[in-house]
Amino acid sequence: MSSSCKIIAIANQKGGVGKTTTAQNLSYSLAENGKKVLLVDFDPQSNLTMCFGVDKPDELKTTIYHLMMAAIEEENLPGKSEYIISNGSIDLIPCSIELSAVEVNLVNTMSRENILRSVLESVKQDYDYVIIDCMPSLGMLTINALTASDSVLITATPEYLSAKGLELLLRTIIRVKKKLNPKIVIDGILITMFKERTIISREILSLIEDAYGKSLKVFDSKIPSSVKVGEANFNSKSIIEYKPDNKVALAYNDFAKEFVAL
Ligand code: ATP
Ligand code: MG
Repeated sequence: MSSSCKIIAIANQKGGVGKTTTAQNLSYSLAENGKKVLLVDFDPQSNLTMCFGVDKPDELKTTIYHLMMAAIEEENLPGKSEYIISNGSIDLIPCSIELSAVEVNLVNTMSRENILRSVLESVKQDYDYVIIDCMPSLGMLTINALTASDSVLITATPEYLSAKGLELLLRTIIRVKKKLNPKIVIDGILITMFKERTIISREILSLIEDAYGKSLKVFDSKIPSSVKVGEANFNSKSIIEYKPDNKVALAYNDFAKEFVAL
């Protein structure tokens, strides 16, 4: 039993910027260091659930969708054994495409931004970290994730940083902090799929500093690109587990150390 649990949302409304891969590898690295970690797949695409080895998420009896619906209807949640899947070192609350229907149900729900928070309230005491893998959107589901979290980790590819998307994401986080969740902090930006030859760290840092000042942290560890990441996913494994010596695995281990030291 942990005395304090940190809930982290991994977010970016841009698709394909390494959110799910980061959720998977950060959780694996934390678990290897003796931490109790719960992953929450909060994306109807269910990539994280599939990476966990569930081939057909739609056939699962209980997913985060059912927990959200129970909370909306103010019913009791099912027992943890009915929805938590474990792979031995990490626990997961899985997801299926049905989660997309929750967004509609939230429209007429009282305190609709707080539904995920209330779901996690009943499980978080068992963990050191709860890591929420958000969907690529800034809709009501992501707002729920941000409202439930102590911090947000932004993943971004170098190309993304020069686009307008980051500004919109930061504005959304600030709005959530003002109106819904005053305690939320931004852990920082993790650069993924980093190609050393096309852009150098200094350029990225100066880009962000020019736009946001020194208040926004960019993690020193940058995650390089490797085709092994796709292979690892295909084998339902994190890259750290699949090819521990791969440069991406090493980078994620470095990142996890940096993250824990925050
Ligand atoms: P979505 O917004 O669709 O949920 P995402 O932000 O969760 O996407 P991922 O699913 O983690 O992003 O990654 C997108 C794709 O890029 C995946 O096919 C993944 O295997 C691949 N990928 C992720 N990280 C790397 C990497 N470091 N090197 C090479 N490929 C990567
Ligand atoms: Mg994803």
